[in-house]
Amino acid sequence: MDFVSDTEFIFGDSIRTISQSPDRVHVEFTESGPREFALVIGADGLHSNVRAIAFGDESRFVRDLGLYLCMYTVPNYLKLDRTEVQYSELGRVAAIWSSRGDASVKACFGFVAPCVIDLRNRAQQQQVLTSAYQGIGWEVPTLLGMMSTASDYYFDAAAQIRMDRWSQGRVVLVGDAGYCASPMSGQGASLALIGAYVLAGELAAASGAYRPHFSNMKR
Ligand SMILES: Cc1cc2nc3c(=O)[nH]c(=O)nc-3n(C[C@H](O)[C@H](O)[C@H](O)COP(=O)(O)OP(=O)(O)OC[C@H]3O[C@@H](n4cnc5c(N)ncnc54)[C@H](O)[C@@H]3O)c2cc1C
Repeated sequence: MDFVSDTEFIFGDSIRTISQSPDRVHVEFTESGPREFALVIGADGLHSNVRAIAFGDESRFVRDLGLYLCMYTVPNYLKLDRTEVQYSELGRVAAIWSSRGDASVKACFGFVAPCVIDLRNRAQQQQVLTSAYQGIGWEVPTLLGMMSTASDYYFDAAAQIRMDRWSQGRVVLVGDAGYCASPMSGQGASLALIGAYVLAGELAAASGAYRPHFSNMKR
């Protein structure tokens, strides 16, 4: 943030409604007062709130890939340095991943579940995950033992987002919000950055004439 000038950051808030006129976008927030903007660019990820408001329910655009992903931080007890070690068999993968030789690493699980898992029920997630990985030796019992005390925790269904178009009037989506390739692709961060870079460049070149560029933003 120290490198960005002329930009206002608002934390702890979220968009509640978006309505458009030919010249402006009127935005209501959950916490602060209503504001008007020239454009709204939704970069709010796989479960995008902006997409839901401006384009419709997530179920219209999501493609479930049939497995769940869980990730959390554990101590780097294997002393890994920029290395991933992985146990893999059909329907269940476990990995320990180090981006550099830090004191902590990420424990990662990708598995096919025998039931639908409630993405807001952590107790059920951990119970199904633990049960799915029964009988595996390797580092799995150690990693599972650290799950309940981890300082962070991620759990979601692996999914893609597919849309025919990424703009709706003065509202546009970038990154996972518009075209999530899923964590399985290993390309989501690059796609998000490149999409934002291209959009910013085109908007700057257009000097405010956003329409031709937005209408070209299709799959
Ligand atoms: C387990 C896992 C492993 C991955 N591995 C890789 C990899 O190896 N390589 C790779 O390139 N990509 C990987 N990805 C994918 C990558 O993380 C994403 O594609 C990338 O982060 C997308 O960036 P984004 O900015 O579009 O969305 P996000 O990074 O999801 O950012 C969205 C932001 O919007 C905020 N937000 C959401 N809703 C609201 C709201 N209502 N109000 C306000 N703010 C909101 C969120 O808090 C978040 O900060 C992985 C993803 C996962 C889950």
